Amino acid sequence: MKYRTDKRGNKLSILGYGCMRFSKKGGGIDIDKTESEIMEAFKAGVNYFDTAYIYSGSEAALGEIIERNGIRDKINVATKLPQYLIGNGSSLEKYFSEELKRLRTDYVDYYLMHHLTDVDMWEKLKSVGILNWIKEKKSSGAIRNIGFSYHGNTDNFLTILNDYDWDFCQIQYNYLDEVTQAGRRGLDAAADKGVPVVIMEPLRGGKLANNLPQSALNAMNESGRNWSKAEWAFRWLFNQPAVTVVLSGMNSVEMVRENCSIASTAEAGELTEKDFETLEKVKKAIREKEKVGCTGCRYCMPCPAGVDIPGTFACYNAMYTESKSSGRGQFIQTVGLTKNPAFPSQCIGCGKCEKHCPQGLPIREKLKEAGKALRPLPYRIANAAMRKFMFRKRKGNK
Ligand code: SF4
Ligand code: SF4
Repeated sequence: MKYRTDKRGNKLSILGYGCMRFSKKGGGIDIDKTESEIMEAFKAGVNYFDTAYIYSGSEAALGEIIERNGIRDKINVATKLPQYLIGNGSSLEKYFSEELKRLRTDYVDYYLMHHLTDVDMWEKLKSVGILNWIKEKKSSGAIRNIGFSYHGNTDNFLTILNDYDWDFCQIQYNYLDEVTQAGRRGLDAAADKGVPVVIMEPLRGGKLANNLPQSALNAMNESGRNWSKAEWAFRWLFNQPAVTVVLSGMNSVEMVRENCSIASTAEAGELTEKDFETLEKVKKAIREKEKVGCTGCRYCMPCPAGVDIPGTFACYNAMYTESKSSGRGQFIQTVGLTKNPAFPSQCIGCGKCEKHCPQGLPIREKLKEAGKALRPLPYRIANAAMRKFMFRKRKGNK
């Protein structure tokens, strides 16, 4: 296993264990199977395990396995504050204590504000006293490193990143998300500040391992590398020194062995010009299935009406390169849950964006098309209910 370091110089395995989807049995987690997978990873050197309050049964299962095997002081546990459930300062303590109890521990190595998509969510946490709470937890040793996991656009990521002295952060990043989500711009900004970055969705929800077009597979076969589809995605990430840990949700011993083997030989800077050319062909093959030729360059932004143009197109394309539900789900996550609405229906038709688009895209027309496809009635209703819940007034808010 290869290791990189956190802000304090602690060694973290470059492969982290994502604990969101442990195997199930009889309606609950299959604890014995999960134990054998986790211990296989532990023996291969994995020392970073990532769970969250809302991953059903995950914290408790992880806690039980850690206790059974007596490995608490040999691993790093990362878990997350369900910030969307926080109504006031006292609920911070309530959720955190429950998480410690589930994990059978009295400290968390890496604690994250879960699923920030907008600056406003962080501001709300500040308004209920999160800054003092973090200070107290860090000085008592109950939290060793504080960070946030992020799913919004690059600009909001940069604002949150620069607003606090974070110990680490977690972003969705893979060779298809270089210009969406926090993106390479976000990764590099974190690295410039010395903030370690944990990567989630290295395979874009499995798409980069299971769902590639034939021409992409041909490019990989002709590359001269004997790498699996997943290996291309992992090695592209490990190649970048700004990446600290790459999470993988592993639910078979074979998968654990394969991923650990990749992580024990991967080096930063190992990809050659030829490898990048192969990946360009793979991306091109995926893009050929897209609906809009948007490269995510953002020259069209900002839009005076607040529309997230590249964010909308990225999700519209995902409907055709992944699945309809995946594109619509991504849209709710990255565009539909920002405090200031950024929906394509807000377009006032001024045409400013089209003057700046190097691809010459008919943005206004494509936004109409995308808005219709991405937001059928049930999704609009669900999105509106989520917005109402997430942006409700909380006690202590001004
Ligand atoms: S045409 Fe629509 S999307 Fe483009 S800048 Fe104007 S309001 Fe924004
Ligand atoms: S300028 Fe054109 S290609 Fe670039 S992000 Fe905007 S719509 Fe996409």
